[in-house]
Amino acid sequence: MFHSTRFKLIFSFLCVSFLVGGISLFIGARLLYDTVLREATNQTRLALNAAEDAYQTRVRFIDMALNITTLGSGFRASFMDRNIPDLMDRLDRMSKNSGLDFSGIALNDGRILCRTGGKAPEEAQTDNPIVRYVMDKGDSVAGTIVVSRLFLGNEAPDRAGQINWHSARMASSQDTAPQESCLAIAAAIPIFEYRTTGKLLGILYGGRAVNQNTEIVDSTQKSVFFDEIQSETTMPTTTIFFDTVRIATNMIDSKGNRAIGTRASDEVREQVIVRGKKWTRRGEDLGERYISAFMPIGDVFGKRVGMLSVATLESNYSSVQRKLMFIFMAATFAGALLAVGMGYMLARRIMAPVHRLIHASRELSEGNAPPDLGLVSKDPEMAILQKTFRDMVESMQRTRVASQNKILQSEKQASVGRLAAGVAHEINNPLTGVLTYTHMLLRRKDINDDIRADLQVIVESTERVRKIVKGLLDFARQTKLEPEPTDINQLMEATIKLVENQALLKGVGIQFEKGDNLPMIVIDRSQIQSVFLNMILNALDATQSSDEIRVTSSAALSATDTEHSGIEITIRDNGCGMPPEHLAQIFDPFFTTKDVGKGTGLGLAVSLGIIKEHGGNIRVQSEPGKGAVFFIWLPMERQVNPNESADR
Ligand code: ADP
Repeated sequence: MFHSTRFKLIFSFLCVSFLVGGISLFIGARLLYDTVLREATNQTRLALNAAEDAYQTRVRFIDMALNITTLGSGFRASFMDRNIPDLMDRLDRMSKNSGLDFSGIALNDGRILCRTGGKAPEEAQTDNPIVRYVMDKGDSVAGTIVVSRLFLGNEAPDRAGQINWHSARMASSQDTAPQESCLAIAAAIPIFEYRTTGKLLGILYGGRAVNQNTEIVDSTQKSVFFDEIQSETTMPTTTIFFDTVRIATNMIDSKGNRAIGTRASDEVREQVIVRGKKWTRRGEDLGERYISAFMPIGDVFGKRVGMLSVATLESNYSSVQRKLMFIFMAATFAGALLAVGMGYMLARRIMAPVHRLIHASRELSEGNAPPDLGLVSKDPEMAILQKTFRDMVESMQRTRVASQNKILQSEKQASVGRLAAGVAHEINNPLTGVLTYTHMLLRRKDINDDIRADLQVIVESTERVRKIVKGLLDFARQTKLEPEPTDINQLMEATIKLVENQALLKGVGIQFEKGDNLPMIVIDRSQIQSVFLNMILNALDATQSSDEIRVTSSAALSATDTEHSGIEITIRDNGCGMPPEHLAQIFDPFFTTKDVGKGTGLGLAVSLGIIKEHGGNIRVQSEPGKGAVFFIWLPMERQVNPNESADR
């Protein structure tokens, strides 16, 4: 039981800690998941801003290169002189240094004067949107443009040959882009006659095709700073869309190639190209789950023609989530373990006093003295339990001592009784013989006075022996009880009369305060009288001249159990009294303080026996020098069957 209670306590602790742990794990996991996702989304948005920066930097770079060329010394002169070789030389250098796919100079009517890399101007004059822009607006321009396949074929046939026009066509199928076109970033700068007049003489232009350009997207990736939860292998990918078709990307498809020509969903198109919003979403792309951020790309004419996007693999974050989750679970488990440990300690502390109580009860039940229960518990319930147990042990010990005393007393009485009965029986007959013959001798006339005096001593001594034998027989209860209704006051008066003379001689007064209206009680008159007599004689022995003996009778409840009513007789003297060690023995047979020949030590033992036979009890109070009081209580109704007691 002890173990099972401790087990239950620990088990409850275990349940509670696992429940709490489980709930916090569940909530924690949710929070963790959300936090990591939010973080991932923020990182992706940041990466998109970086990507936009990189894209715009490329555009500005072209613009800068063109500006530097036009400002170069001798450029204007060469242009005015139509010094084509010099102009071509300058264009070549510019293109090479700035990584341009195409560059050239147009006249103010849009016709191409010269171009690098492309076909000869006289062979191929195609509409050049960026040149047209400058012609229309009279100002320089830099940004994104949509160019036709024909244009790129004329301007940069090699570059046009690299382009996957199939994907370009797919993009063109949307209304955003014309047939067979691609995206380019380009710039154009007007060449004026004089800055002040503002007459347009020509236009310097240059640019790069964006389709399948890896440099722009890859450099973006490198410029993006990702914090520690992002490892090297989990860099976000950058993609440039022409309409919804990927035309430049470092996103890898299932075959391990760049995912050129694949498409974003119509939803993305709706949000980004149609509505022109920056947009973030979590979703599937090319069989993987991504967190993607998109922004629209507008061309120089203000039309949204494509999108710039950064995407992060969700699985990258799952590993981070897993790692955090593991730490979280370990912490929860450690917490639960701690709780169980504490539960165990607590259970031990709670159970320790219970265990001691159980041990003590076991010892007690086996009849041994219970061991110490230890310190009183601070726990009030446990303290009450300990106190109750201690009280119980004390009361049991008291009861045990009392009953042991009783047993001892009755055993003593029984053995003395048996012995006494045997001895009395054997002695009584010869004693009768001695007395009879002594009396016969005394009646003879022929004996002298000396012999007569000696015979008288024999008679007195033999009478004394008879008295002792009678006392022994009384003690052994060989005499039968003969109960009859008795007026206790009358009986006491008669008894006092018997000793009055003796008291008078000694100079001791005997007062009797009779109780009024006392009922008759059924008792063995002669036996009770012998009790009264014995006590009054004891009192007389204890007192001296001018002392006093006071006897009272009254109706009273039993001192031991207040349920029974009866009559109490007190016999009080102001004689020598008794020390406590005598008080403890006065009811023992043969205990006497009187001189040899005066006391037998049987009087009180016999008296107690008689009163007990009647269902009553005797108490005594005394102090040395202060006299003694004997309280005799007799029940109103007889409680003991007289025949039963007589047989004992
Ligand atoms: P006995 O009278 O033969 O000695 P009891 O049994 O009547 O035997 O008394 C036992 C002892 O109790 C006495 O010897 C005495 O010491 C003591 N005792 C009894 N009654 C009184 C009393 N009233 N005052 C003082 N001592 C008493």
